[in-house]
Amino acid sequence: MTDTPEPSQHEPNPQASLHADAAKRRIEQAVHDNDANLRAVAREIHADPELSFREHRAQRRLIAPLEAAGFAVETGLAGLETSFRAVWSGGAGAADGPTVALLAEYDALPGVGHACGHNLIGTSAVGAALALKEACPDLPGRLIVLGTPAEEEGGGKIIMSEAGIFDGVDAVMMCHPQEKTMVLRGALACVDATFTFRGRQAHASSSPERGISALDAMINAFVAINSIRQFVKDDVRIHGIITKGGDAPNVVPELCEAVFILRAADVDGLHTVREKVYRAVRAAAEGVGAEVGIAEGLIYAERNNNRELARLFRANLENMGLEVSDPPKSGGVGSSDIGNVSRLTAAIHPYIRLGDAGTHTPAFAELAGGEAGMVYLNRAARALALTAYDLFADSSALAAVRGEFEAWKQSEQEKENA
Ligand SMILES: [Zn+2]
Ligand SMILES: [Zn+2]
Repeated sequence: MTDTPEPSQHEPNPQASLHADAAKRRIEQAVHDNDANLRAVAREIHADPELSFREHRAQRRLIAPLEAAGFAVETGLAGLETSFRAVWSGGAGAADGPTVALLAEYDALPGVGHACGHNLIGTSAVGAALALKEACPDLPGRLIVLGTPAEEEGGGKIIMSEAGIFDGVDAVMMCHPQEKTMVLRGALACVDATFTFRGRQAHASSSPERGISALDAMINAFVAINSIRQFVKDDVRIHGIITKGGDAPNVVPELCEAVFILRAADVDGLHTVREKVYRAVRAAAEGVGAEVGIAEGLIYAERNNNRELARLFRANLENMGLEVSDPPKSGGVGSSDIGNVSRLTAAIHPYIRLGDAGTHTPAFAELAGGEAGMVYLNRAARALALTAYDLFADSSALAAVRGEFEAWKQSEQEKENA
């Protein structure tokens, strides 16, 4: 094709054949050729943010170009209306070839819209798939774009994992915008917990002795949680807000509510933290004669990055001329529902730099809808498509990725049996 490679930064991979280099140039050119369409989709989703499980218009915007390109699309997987699966089986022998899934997220945050840049995540997965099909129509395998709703709240990938949606998928990947380009950043296990405190209403001045303050129970719970912070591991994060704090200062509050997120390095560590926090919360309520109910969300597992897959992704980023930073040695991480997927199959969740703003801020939302976001989109689509190509075209690369995952699974099994 007529693409201009980047010879100055291009370090030829000794294993890559001339054939692979040509195919990769075609893939990158296909992403470039589709750039205006991808930008339009990403900008439309950005301008029309939809919250977790309600991403109907974003779903349609992502599905439309896949359908037009001949992908077989179905929606409503695992009972999630706003999920989708778009499948393309390549050339001869595709049925016996590998299955690679690119994950699309497209949910927004309350108040700050696309402040996590999921408009770019969804569109880059679609852009990568379209380019791969366009440039390499005879690819020996199945390429899937999986629309996974509700990453921010609800854990769509957890629900899809439990429904078997990832069965038979050899590798999954997605790419997330961030301040730095990083490939092997981890993520903590986490769970959200809603604490509902129930006391008894009374006039706060004329008959306070008849009341039980749900608010005092809740304040005591915050204090009790703070008092256990010293006695947990460094990786633990416990953070909460008050969502109901009473209705009037002259009424002893009957119902108060706080929502917390608990995090730890892994699910085992998270169980320890849950026990300590819940005990502190129950004791705080009991201390003032109140009751407390605890409602938990789904448990997000820690991220199990596949290093072999990450190595392929990193090589593609570097061939594109991008500088890759090391992940932080400690701290600096959140959680994501891809953690649960990474226990089922080989997975990566790398990051490409968007600009100088932290995720979940208005400044990040602005970048995600502006020119920086569109540059990110082009880069992420290329890196995803090139790495997927590596898995289809190089059976030894795929074998290394799968070998690492199977070895990890076995070691987990042995830990469980021990
Ligand atoms: Zn987020
Ligand atoms: Zn995000």
